[in-house]
Amino acid sequence: MKKSFSQQLLSWYDRHGRKNLPWQKHRSAYTIWLSEIMLQQTRVATVIPYFERFIKRFPDVSILAAASNDEVMSLWAGLGYYARARNAHRCAQIVRDQYAGVFPELIEVLMTLPGIGRSTAGAIVAQAFDQRAVILDGNVKRVLTRLRAIPGWPGKSSVQKQLWTLADELTPDNRPADYTQAIMDLGAMICVRQKPECRICPVSQFCMAFQQDQVTAFPERRPQKPLPVREVSILLCHQQDGRILLERRPPDGIWGGLWSLPECDVDKDPAGFLESAYGYRMLEIDRGEPLSHTFTHFHLNIRPFLIKVQFAADRVANDNIRWCRASDLQQMGLPKPVAGLVSNFLQQAI
Ligand code: SF4
Repeated sequence: MKKSFSQQLLSWYDRHGRKNLPWQKHRSAYTIWLSEIMLQQTRVATVIPYFERFIKRFPDVSILAAASNDEVMSLWAGLGYYARARNAHRCAQIVRDQYAGVFPELIEVLMTLPGIGRSTAGAIVAQAFDQRAVILDGNVKRVLTRLRAIPGWPGKSSVQKQLWTLADELTPDNRPADYTQAIMDLGAMICVRQKPECRICPVSQFCMAFQQDQVTAFPERRPQKPLPVREVSILLCHQQDGRILLERRPPDGIWGGLWSLPECDVDKDPAGFLESAYGYRMLEIDRGEPLSHTFTHFHLNIRPFLIKVQFAADRVANDNIRWCRASDLQQMGLPKPVAGLVSNFLQQAI
């Protein structure tokens, strides 16, 4: 008898699927939830060291809930998409306060928690509670659009609707946790974005794109609009003794809640701004190498200024501003481009 799609996929998973990922070793709703949040828009290899550090420091949801925002952000720094970290922290506090520290098992309830969408909720229910649930993350979308040669960009709502229906049709009643991992693994290991390995694919017999020799046509790309460009001046203010001025960013917006360098509009005089906004007087100023960083919705061009300031007292009347030594920086959680700028400055200053 011909095997079904899920049987074929599960047999392949039994032989080739990933079974030693760190969140699979001590499987719980907490570890699965945390891994799923970290894996949003991010590759497994990038996530693993972050996940391991996080779990070591926050071994359960109540410990994460009780941590300070600074500590959570510093362990997340470099992983990007920082709204995920803020939402994860808030979610942990809600699970502790409203669910006695136990993640709910219903998809609809999980979806009311910050940062948990339909696919993440499905993955938690399937992987942590081994109950049938449907997932549709980026990898699965790619597999399914190829499987049925579905035209249109998968982010479009009409295409998403078709994909959810298909994902539901294909999800079996048995072995929910394994099936969920299997379809994610297929997308990550075989049905990859560039050059999928159709010759060794366990489900090629079901795949319309393969049969029509149209694999590279799916999924269709997002309709491209040029990203807007923004510019900002960033002020790396330092003192004679090597301390650097850091400022915590507001909780929302880019790099929300992370420590960073003060910034001002490019049409403002950096030294004048520093004096009026922070009360520090400039002694010397240099321009640093310009850099740029691309966010989901815009490119940011950064003009750095290296400003030596007159001696400033340790204590400033604001919790969101701090003079820091090089040894403090590891615990501060700086965004990647800013951390690079500071690290270059410190190396040159030594
Ligand atoms: Fe993906 Fe190729 Fe397998 Fe189709 S046959 S699911 S395109 S790897």
